[in-house]
Amino acid sequence: QKKEWAKLKNEPSVSKDGTHVELVANIGTPEDLVGVHDNGAEGVGLYRTEFLYMGRDDFPTEEEQYEAYKKVVESLDGKPVVIRTLDIGGDKELSYLDLPEEMNPFLGFRAIRLCLEMTDMFRTQLRALLRASAFGNLKIMFPMIATLQEFREAKALLEEEKQKLISEGVEVSEELEVGIMVEIPSTAVMAPQFAKEVDFFSIGTNDLIQYTMAADRMNERVSYLYQPYSPAILNLVKMVIDASHKEGKWTGMCGEMAGDEVAIPLLFGLGLDEFSMSATSVLPARSQLLQLTKEEAAQVAEQALTLQTAEEVQDLVEKKFL
Ligand code: PEP
Ligand code: MG
Repeated sequence: QKKEWAKLKNEPSVSKDGTHVELVANIGTPEDLVGVHDNGAEGVGLYRTEFLYMGRDDFPTEEEQYEAYKKVVESLDGKPVVIRTLDIGGDKELSYLDLPEEMNPFLGFRAIRLCLEMTDMFRTQLRALLRASAFGNLKIMFPMIATLQEFREAKALLEEEKQKLISEGVEVSEELEVGIMVEIPSTAVMAPQFAKEVDFFSIGTNDLIQYTMAADRMNERVSYLYQPYSPAILNLVKMVIDASHKEGKWTGMCGEMAGDEVAIPLLFGLGLDEFSMSATSVLPARSQLLQLTKEEAAQVAEQALTLQTAEEVQDLVEKKFL
């Protein structure tokens, strides 16, 4: 099987009937680029920038960040690189960021909420990203967006920094796409409104499942509620994809679910445009995709949306495709 997969390294990601999707990789540091290239990923769908901020005792400078982003973007040589702005808080802490303890860190002051208050820190990251955008196909993505207001505020800060850089004579990409992660149910429900303003969505199922099911993603005792195949999750995913397409935008997924062999036929059937996963899952996913037809996958996905339990969904997919 490994040998079969290796043959697909430089092949496009297409289904049996020729429908193309993008299979891209999640990375945490520029060191992960080796895996991206070795596994034939068509880009980076999620660069988790928090690792740049971790394991040190002060914030990374604009220059340090610029170097890291530029390295990744250049290495991908024109292929898309989606870079997520700082997503700290919840399970991810910074030693030098002394925040008061919270009763519910996963529902607290984190990610974009924190960035919109600590604007100096946020602006530094945005400047580094904007500067790096001149070297390839960089896209910016904001994490944990819950309201349109948050997106507009973040986008306005980005625009301000962009104009400043331009007036300083610094080169910035003209085609920079700006999107959001959909990992909070309110945002999935509001996808039609968001789709008019964002360039793309990337569904973060690790958090979307936790918030939809009200089940802590780190808590073993409630892990039975952590159900990627729940028709509740699938219906939310469908809403987001449909809303984006209606506005001519695209939807990716960068949670673990995107590389899951049971989920892949369903997501393909629902029309997901981009699947971002750990690099080692790319070739197996490409091989799986080759066996699927759009029509059949769409039929099965349509049926899955109407089922009653996650188990029923899993059984259906296994019977049809695995
Ligand atoms: C997610 O929530 O699905 C996601 C990709 O982000 P993280 O796992 O970094 O929270
Ligand atoms: Mg998340």
